[in-house]
Amino acid sequence: MFNKLRLLTPGPTPLPERVRLALAKDMIHHRKQDFHDVMARVQEKLKILFGTKEVVLPLSSSGTGAMTAAIYSLFAPGEKILVVDGGKFGERWANIARSRGLQVERITLPWGQACTAETLAGKLDSDPEIRGVCVQVSETSTGVLHPVRELASLTRTRDTLLICDGISAVGISPCPMDEWGIDCLLTGSQKGLMLPPGLSLIALSERAWSRATILEPGCFYFDLPAERKKVLGNETHFTTPVNLIVGLDESLSMLLADGLETIYRKQWALTMLARQGARALGLELFAKSHYTWGLTSILLPEGVDGKKVLELAEKEFGVAMAGGQDKLKGRAIRIGHMGWVDWGDVLAGLYALDRSILACSGFSGSRDYLEQAMAAYQAALTVTPGDPLPAVRIRS
Ligand SMILES: *Cc1c(COP(=O)(O)O)cnc(C)c1O
Repeated sequence: MFNKLRLLTPGPTPLPERVRLALAKDMIHHRKQDFHDVMARVQEKLKILFGTKEVVLPLSSSGTGAMTAAIYSLFAPGEKILVVDGGKFGERWANIARSRGLQVERITLPWGQACTAETLAGKLDSDPEIRGVCVQVSETSTGVLHPVRELASLTRTRDTLLICDGISAVGISPCPMDEWGIDCLLTGSQKGLMLPPGLSLIALSERAWSRATILEPGCFYFDLPAERKKVLGNETHFTTPVNLIVGLDESLSMLLADGLETIYRKQWALTMLARQGARALGLELFAKSHYTWGLTSILLPEGVDGKKVLELAEKEFGVAMAGGQDKLKGRAIRIGHMGWVDWGDVLAGLYALDRSILACSGFSGSRDYLEQAMAAYQAALTVTPGDPLPAVRIRS
């Protein structure tokens, strides 16, 4: 028995009541003053979220639309780009780039591993024709966090743009665009931003804008320079999902209320909770060192059917989690802990996971896994601002 479905999936994520109420407001017109006021507020807050002085464009699409807009706006057919391919979403970069007629080079990584700066430096040094590098800040299919700050230190000194899919990172772990030297950062509404799906957000650096404005737009709908002109006047090029923008106004206020560092610390602590809980359950964590802060990927014991575990967790305990994709299908569980998710939800997720695995296989780990998970969470919350955290530092 349960009275709500807990969405511990890496998008969509649960919605706070404040956001749901904002979404329920009466319609306003996207070419009139009420909407201009909302857009102006949203723009200021988005700049803080993205860590940029440049404009952040809302697009009416899921996250992949913004990925498409980036590729079609920044590269011309025939140009060469390099894709960091360490999972499902890295692969998506390559597919979009091919559809644009680009030459695609790859850094192919074993799933679960992060791209190192040395690997990227080697590739860039050996091929000066590479015009752009596409990477996920957080590769959601594996739970790996690529060291984007270090990768950016290599691209920012070259004539190579760094395009970052931050769909499972923005609002979840630090990714200050201007400070790190990222040329394009994008995200979607349904992950860290506590909104329904349907809106994507994209920002370009000054040098990326220089390129976008001289290139023939590759796509009529995703014409970023045209979109920028409109957004500077607090509108969008085409009819925007008005209620999502109104919801975004609210969710950004919530995210920024106590400063982004508070959100990052909470996300970090939830990650520690999930990881310690899984370890105590005797399960193997898939991403060993560079792990993302919005989900935890866990390998199931040999012979345990992941599909069955997920079904039981949802049916018996009301907890929806994600399975592995492609080569991890049936073998892994991904617990999402991004957006409006708190410690109680993740504990419920661990409990549901334990009970479901036990029911499928008789496998179980130590019985004080919930206490161990909570202890790790409490300890992580005491990290003071500026302390170095593994993989990424909150503050430089
Ligand atoms: C969810 C996700 C996507 C896909 O976004 P859609 O909104 O489904 O288009 C792409 N990249 C990453 C890293 C994601 O987590």
